[in-house]
Amino acid sequence: MEKDIKTILAECGFSFKKQLGQNFITDKNLLSSIVAASGVGKEVTVIEIGCGAGTLTRALSERVKKVIAFEVDKTLQPVLAQTLSGCTNAEVVFRDFLKVGLKEFEKEQGEYFVVANLPYYVTTPLIMKLIEESEKCKGLSVMVQEEVAERFCAKEGTPEYGAITAMIALRAECEITKRVPRTLFYPRPNVDSAVVKFTFCNRFAVKDKAVYKKVVHAAFSSRRKTLENNLVSAFKLTREKAREVLTACGIDLKARGETLSPERFAALADYMTTAL
Ligand code: SAM
Repeated sequence: MEKDIKTILAECGFSFKKQLGQNFITDKNLLSSIVAASGVGKEVTVIEIGCGAGTLTRALSERVKKVIAFEVDKTLQPVLAQTLSGCTNAEVVFRDFLKVGLKEFEKEQGEYFVVANLPYYVTTPLIMKLIEESEKCKGLSVMVQEEVAERFCAKEGTPEYGAITAMIALRAECEITKRVPRTLFYPRPNVDSAVVKFTFCNRFAVKDKAVYKKVVHAAFSSRRKTLENNLVSAFKLTREKAREVLTACGIDLKARGETLSPERFAALADYMTTAL
């Protein structure tokens, strides 16, 4: 690509849509390091969610077998025609990824990794869609807002630990692989970012995922309340029953949800699945 990306965007008359989280990466070193940190190689198919002007798409296409890039904003078409010219293994699909039926998609594509600089306004729904619905996704390496990255990777007993941490833990282990200052995006956002790598590993099993989800959401529904109080409200339990459940699971009656590891939530959910 001979022309600078900012020149291409200007020549195409592209106007940034803040509501779509359009903060693009133009720095070549950053692009290479994101691709390297993802660990994807020649044999892999990569899904990119939100390809923007195609800078990351191009960097990925040089490294992997195939890139399928989803983008919701069709006005990027003329930009992408230039930035991805000659990238024969990259395909752009103009669709909202949240509306893609993963079952159908996976039937056609087989196994894949997700590498993306995610639109920040839908980070959590996008991650949860992959965590809950995907069967052939092997892992993700995604750029998100730094505070959100801290929540994804948090340990129990910390202020960052929450329902989203415990939900992700059901399916994946995650770590922050890179911190990226806001100055490296165009246009510059108001927040710093971080790349999080999710390794899908079925960390632990639960008898019923819906019960695990309900327990986790109940535990964090009111962080100041004890787990006992939150379970009483969410599951309409008598206080005696809630205490019986917690005691059977070896959980202190005064404990708050944020002190339980995902594995202990799983044990509690399994007990409740059979005992209630
Ligand atoms: N990958 C590019 C980069 O790193 O320069 C662009 C990243 S930008 C943070 C996010 C992109 O996602 C935007 O181009 C936006 O239009 C697109 N987008 C927003 N919501 C989307 C959705 N639901 N499905 C697919 N793309 C979406």
